[in-house]
Amino acid sequence: MPTYESWFRCAGGCEGRFEVTDIIYRCPRCSGLLEVAHNVDALKRRSPSAWMRLFDERYMRTQFPYGSGVWGKKELVFPAIDDVNVVSLYEGGTNLHRAVRFGDSIGLDDLWIKQCGSSHTGSFKDLGMTVLVSAVKEIVSGGGSVQAVVCASTGDTSASVAAYCAAAGIPAVVVLPRDKVSPAQLIQPISNGALTLALDTDFDGCMEIVEHLSLDKRFYLANSVNPLRIEGQKTISFEIVQQFDWEVPDWVIVPGGNLGNVTAVGLGFQMMLDLGVIQRLPRVVCAQSANANPLYLSYLKGFAEFGPMPAKPTLATAIQIGNPVSASRAIEVVKALDGVVEQATEDELSHAAALADATGLFTCPQTGVALAALLKLVARGEIRRDDRVVVLSTASGLKFIDFKIGYHGRELTGVDPLLANGPVELPGDLDSVMKAISSATT
Ligand SMILES: *Cc1c(COP(=O)(O)O)cnc(C)c1O
Ligand SMILES: [Zn+2]
Repeated sequence: MPTYESWFRCAGGCEGRFEVTDIIYRCPRCSGLLEVAHNVDALKRRSPSAWMRLFDERYMRTQFPYGSGVWGKKELVFPAIDDVNVVSLYEGGTNLHRAVRFGDSIGLDDLWIKQCGSSHTGSFKDLGMTVLVSAVKEIVSGGGSVQAVVCASTGDTSASVAAYCAAAGIPAVVVLPRDKVSPAQLIQPISNGALTLALDTDFDGCMEIVEHLSLDKRFYLANSVNPLRIEGQKTISFEIVQQFDWEVPDWVIVPGGNLGNVTAVGLGFQMMLDLGVIQRLPRVVCAQSANANPLYLSYLKGFAEFGPMPAKPTLATAIQIGNPVSASRAIEVVKALDGVVEQATEDELSHAAALADATGLFTCPQTGVALAALLKLVARGEIRRDDRVVVLSTASGLKFIDFKIGYHGRELTGVDPLLANGPVELPGDLDSVMKAISSATT
């Protein structure tokens, strides 16, 4: 039997190999990012068709943990973990559906939406968090002592950390900026029993404190500098190809903030190419908010330089990041996948989300950014009518209700709500109802 194995190494190429259960987040030589490496030679000894058969046999079945979209690809994610330490809520296996009417309305014949938000905590963050929290369980069962998993977050990361830690019985500490998070963002970690600390500072202040905490190895860091999250998220690409009966789409569009997800998506496709599961790569589009667009600005200069920036407020709060942790890796991925970086203003992201919603979707503002980028690439002919396009919808729109209420209530600054559809208030009689219906539908 070939040994499938994975380990940490410096993403920048320094010498050194660390266990994926070592509590280490940065290269000791250059302080750069770590990445997970796999024994690709061992993986290649299984034929592409045998891999595809294995993944299809497992997909969304009940055998624990292989019915999970992530753990169905265990050999390529975290081969050495003992199955009893896997903490899974059967993440992945999310709907990939054809957006027929939305596609028609914007001139595309083959547009698909990957609903990563149809997941346990309502965002794709679950795909990475199952791997990270499983690693913690493996560390603890091997005699290591982890007192708590910690993260700084205002939204989706903290929800996911809290849920997976609660499922594992591992304490979670979530550090949030006080009065800067909505009730919807606060209630998931609270319900899942995380120690929820609301600090008198902003997100960056929280992040600084969590980074200091994580110097103490009893506190395991769950922010996306941790490369285990990328390992789980790269299964998005496997799943898309699998759902297309192992065919590669032409384009994949991903909203980017810390840039871990676009990195993961790219690495997933590259790994499939390495294994011979696919014969070509799709093109990737990374879509940023114009108020937090450091990758876009770098792209305009051919990636000759990259500089962090202060992120301005945006409706797409989950990607309001000016100093993305995974920028260097994302740049490599965008180059390798012949990628494009686009941006969307508040008005553009809101309009794109409303257009999509009017055809039956219910998109979060981050997905609105991706859809706005799609509209721009179609308008300038870069994406063509018969191209097969997949847009990653990264979270459930239900997590971002304030955005919807603000749009339809015409209350968003800088947004012209052309598609606002507010409720019609009427007296309680049949006649008024009849009149309202006929004036709206004829
Ligand atoms: C985290 C998140 C993103 C951004 O992903 P990055 O890896 O930070 O680029 C986009 N959309 C949603 C809903 C998210 O929660
Ligand atoms: Zn290094």
